[in-house]
Amino acid sequence: MDKNCIFCKIASKEISKEFLYESDLVMAFHDINPEAPVHILILPKVHISNINEVQDMGIFGDLFTAAKEIAEKEGVSEKGYRVVINTGKDGGQLVDHLHIHLIGGKKLGSKVSG
Ligand code: AMP
Ligand code: ZN
Repeated sequence: MDKNCIFCKIASKEISKEFLYESDLVMAFHDINPEAPVHILILPKVHISNINEVQDMGIFGDLFTAAKEIAEKEGVSEKGYRVVINTGKDGGQLVDHLHIHLIGGKKLGSKVSG
């Protein structure tokens, strides 16, 4: 737990948030500033700043298992969706707690960086 980290505060329930998915290691909730009809953040409960700091890559199994389930639940599996992990300054990462954006519910452009 990083006491200055907003996502750690959500993980510890210091800030209350409706969880769309929760397991021992992973949680998911709506992005506060959605860029599409479906915009969900999926993240480890423990504080890991970003991909560079991941020690056990097994966490990605849990994160992507959650992503697949959430996509099904949100009804975007068949039409499609995008998962994005911004990493570091040039990657556009604003919150330094590893998270996957799951974005869908509309036709997205084919440029990943757009
Ligand atoms: P990134 O640029 O990949 O670090 O994305 C951070 C995302 O977190 C942005 O899309 C924000 O809208 C979102 N965000 C920031 N604070 C909150 C919050 N308290 N609850 C939900 N989403 C948040
Ligand atoms: Zn954190």
